[in-house]
Amino acid sequence: MLDAAGSRRRPSASLEVVTPPPEPRDPNGRGARQLLGVFRYSGRAVELVWTTSRFLTIALALLTLLGGVLPAATAYVGKLIVDAVVQAADTGLHADRWAALGYVALEGGIVVALAAVQRGLLVCQSLLRALLGQRVNVMILEKALTLDLAHFEDSEFYDKMTRARREASSRPLSLVTRTFGLGQNAISLVAFAGLLLGFSPLAVLVLALAGVPAFVAEARYSGEAFRLFKWRSPETRQQLYLETVLAREDYVKEVKLLGLAPRLLQRYREIFQKLYRADRDLTLRRGLWGYVLGLLSTLAFYAAYAWIVVEAVAGRISLGEMTMYLLVFRQGQAAFSASLSAIGGMYEDNLYLSTLYEFLEQEVLPGPAGAAAGPLPGDGVRFENVTFTYPGAQRRAVDGVTLHLRPGRKLALVGENGSGKTTLIKLLTRLYAPEAGTITLDGLDLQAWDVQALRRRVGVIFQDFVHYQFPVGENIGAGDVEHFEDELRWRQAAGKGMAAPFIEEMKDGYRTQLGRWFQDGRELSIGQWQKIALSRAFMRESADILVLDEPTAAMDAEAEMRVFDHFREITKGQMAILISHRFSTVRMADEIAVLEDGRLVEHGSHEELLRAAGRYAHLFSLQAAGYR
Ligand code: ADP
Repeated sequence: MLDAAGSRRRPSASLEVVTPPPEPRDPNGRGARQLLGVFRYSGRAVELVWTTSRFLTIALALLTLLGGVLPAATAYVGKLIVDAVVQAADTGLHADRWAALGYVALEGGIVVALAAVQRGLLVCQSLLRALLGQRVNVMILEKALTLDLAHFEDSEFYDKMTRARREASSRPLSLVTRTFGLGQNAISLVAFAGLLLGFSPLAVLVLALAGVPAFVAEARYSGEAFRLFKWRSPETRQQLYLETVLAREDYVKEVKLLGLAPRLLQRYREIFQKLYRADRDLTLRRGLWGYVLGLLSTLAFYAAYAWIVVEAVAGRISLGEMTMYLLVFRQGQAAFSASLSAIGGMYEDNLYLSTLYEFLEQEVLPGPAGAAAGPLPGDGVRFENVTFTYPGAQRRAVDGVTLHLRPGRKLALVGENGSGKTTLIKLLTRLYAPEAGTITLDGLDLQAWDVQALRRRVGVIFQDFVHYQFPVGENIGAGDVEHFEDELRWRQAAGKGMAAPFIEEMKDGYRTQLGRWFQDGRELSIGQWQKIALSRAFMRESADILVLDEPTAAMDAEAEMRVFDHFREITKGQMAILISHRFSTVRMADEIAVLEDGRLVEHGSHEELLRAAGRYAHLFSLQAAGYR
């Protein structure tokens, strides 16, 4: 029941059910471990890509390999060309001239092949990006479905999910292409080193060592960047929320009228400034060190460069060899900088994947395989001494409630705001488990029921029921997934919920789109929405318990009266639990339970409770006085 931006969340305290976030990385254990950390999730990313599309993965791997080898091949052919040219110029032979031209053609061929490889890589990546983005998003959503309500009310958990969702489509592929790209550059570098060995092993060693500091710095700052990103996640989320409040249709009305916009925008700016300062510091440091350490490698490169020139001038290597080595150097340096930025990005991708897997591997304790029926069919619902405290809350929301509801009976729950009525319903629907006491249906503890079987037996419409931006008929059909698109059933339910008259007046009848997100979407009044919600509840003909949390608060008195006039007839053998502040509704229930601070203080029929002259009688007389 959360909207896209999670705007109804409350920042609840932490929960025991939720596994704690990983410890922040040990700041002293950086270095080698951190460098290796770059590859920590590469395997899993490759696996993810592999299982998404084998064909594309193989194509990507082959093209990467080719892309790694071909540049060295061009360098080598370059050497052959120059040597052939020098020889042809010396001998003036026809054959030597043709040999030189042949090498040129060969190099041209290789370059054409390289272009094809690069284009092929781009194509594979685009296709994989689409497939992988969809796959990861589905994985995240499927996981979200298995989680408890409590998870969604935990801000730390919520952060994880938001972070996992934010970059779901780009990060995994990015990690794979970077891993492959790094592999490609590594192959090129090894091939270059192989060519260079012919010149001097020492040169190879110097060049390799000169690159290390820049690598380490890159890995370190990337790690820092992600920690920053993680640390400020609450602020980012707040910014996201402010954006929602300022720009969404259902908030705009109030935000405008109350003149809140400038103040909220100011807050939005302040958060940005704070984030920006931290960002800027890191970016500056990263840029500076990257430059200084990169310079070190460049110096080493150019020293070796000079060395080669000297050797060529002294005639110890051929002109062709010099050309090749120089090319190797230039390309080697390009491959090296590409590797550096790949490492930087990979670190961030890895950390993203760690969040993703943290989320996906969030432990959900699978309930024991539940039963689909109880030992005492017809026993109805029993609350036995049920107590519950919300995680992190100080007070019990429900405190020692004992109550028995038999099939066919209608129960009204009465009590002030916060007295525990909704919580009782959440416990009945197993959204939460009682910390003490038991709730049974047909004589079987709810915890022992198969949750699907249990939820089929209970139909609930909460006070904050969802206004789906679907056609109006589907908004009713949502009450029973098996008949989600069954127009005949929509009509029957709408009739019972008093929604039929206004739906039939709409242009497209039951197919009328609701909400402003989509073209031609219509908005309904709150009272009309409630009629939709009530109809949604009446869709659940097969449920034997119907729970209506303040279903008619915004309806006009006449509509409400008509709904409840034939309520008993509509709900036949069903148990019904109504939460309402209107005594005109409450009094029709067979029994009334009065809650106060989570405790059941009175229980009986309307007449009995009036006679008892207690809490109920007092509340009733207050409201009745209002009408006189
Ligand atoms: P009612 O439906 O009678 O208005 P609730 O059952 O919603 O009351 O709330 C009972 C108590 O539990 C209140 O004190 C409320 O603040 C608290 N509460 C309700 N929902 C939550 C929640 N998700 N997390 C923590 N406390 C909650």
